[in-house]
Amino acid sequence: MQFNAHFNDIAQSYLFSTIAKKVSAYSAAHPDKTILRLGIGDVTLPLAPAVIDALHRAVDDMAHKETFHGYGPEQGYDFLKESIRGYYASNGVELDADEIFISDGAKSDLGNILDIFANDNKVLVPDPVYPVYVDTNVMAGRKVAYMNATAENGFLPMPDYSVDADIIYLCSPNNPTGAAYTKAQLKEWVDYANAKKAVILYDAAYECFITEDDLARSIFQIEGAKTCAIEFCSFSKTAGFTGTRCGYTVVPLALERGGMSANKMWLRRQTTKFNGVPYVVQRGAAAVFTQEGQKQIKANISYYQRNAKLIADCMDELGIWYTGGKNSPYIWLKCPGGMDSWTFFDYLLENIQVVGTPGAGFGANGEGFFRLTAFGSEEVTKQAVERIKGLLKR
Ligand code: PLP
Repeated sequence: MQFNAHFNDIAQSYLFSTIAKKVSAYSAAHPDKTILRLGIGDVTLPLAPAVIDALHRAVDDMAHKETFHGYGPEQGYDFLKESIRGYYASNGVELDADEIFISDGAKSDLGNILDIFANDNKVLVPDPVYPVYVDTNVMAGRKVAYMNATAENGFLPMPDYSVDADIIYLCSPNNPTGAAYTKAQLKEWVDYANAKKAVILYDAAYECFITEDDLARSIFQIEGAKTCAIEFCSFSKTAGFTGTRCGYTVVPLALERGGMSANKMWLRRQTTKFNGVPYVVQRGAAAVFTQEGQKQIKANISYYQRNAKLIADCMDELGIWYTGGKNSPYIWLKCPGGMDSWTFFDYLLENIQVVGTPGAGFGANGEGFFRLTAFGSEEVTKQAVERIKGLLKR
């Protein structure tokens, strides 16, 4: 018997554990100080009332023989798939219901999708990056090549035809950088992927934060994407489902390579290894698309967007270079005074008790950068911004 030795190749990430240790050591030494956390990637507002009502009703359904639900379709209930289809249509994207697969979140699907790809595919990921893309490939023994996301390209790397790739990860709006591709930029990626017969794994988890029309909410808004892309999306940031767990993946029927259909393979994979998202949760997710639900989740998104603007305005005032903030809950800033990411982390913690995330934890190109998030409360964000101004204006 041998375990999968590729697990030895996964880089250990000490990012969030190091942050936690530093913060708790600081709190222990300074119990009188209030720490303001702008490092969190989790939402803080509760589920919308329309979602809560739907969840309650669905729980009641489960209490009666006539409305009880046991195993559901592995790929999700039609009522939710139809709601998602309607949402895409409102963004000008026509989908077939069979192209939509409901899951317990984008993270699971981003890992599980690799089941349908051969192990010798060349993988291309941006650096800095959401670590899940890298680690899931390393676990399977795939080599990962990086494309540089830097201040020079606005943290939005573009295709290089001299580089071959089979699987390309794009995340827009991006975690950690907050940068978002325009439709014109994504068209270049779609053309590249179709030319190379590659597949783009497009992470749209932060799509709901987009405010500008020239940015893409879905890669399928781009002509040609249905023959080269799979899209992952989630109710986590859209509607506060981080603890409720629901997402969806769109695998176009037109995506084929070597006579094999990605859609058929994913259906086979899901029906073999997954037994569906709970009925109750899917009812809650469907409520997000009702008129009331949309109004309520938009109010929550606006709340986070106002926090993001407070942070972005602060950076503008201080003359600090950053990406994000406008179409994203993340603000990715250049550490002032040439500080490296961890030095800046310590500087903020020790002087003003503000906690963010050092960019170096997301990849080599993150060194010298720092991520602040808009998912905290308005009060905490306002206080943190005032403290940052007080410290850095000097
Ligand atoms: N994709 C990105 C870029 C994320 O930042 C996150 C969560 O932080 C996810 C996917 C995971 O989403 P989910 O909660 O649906 O698993």
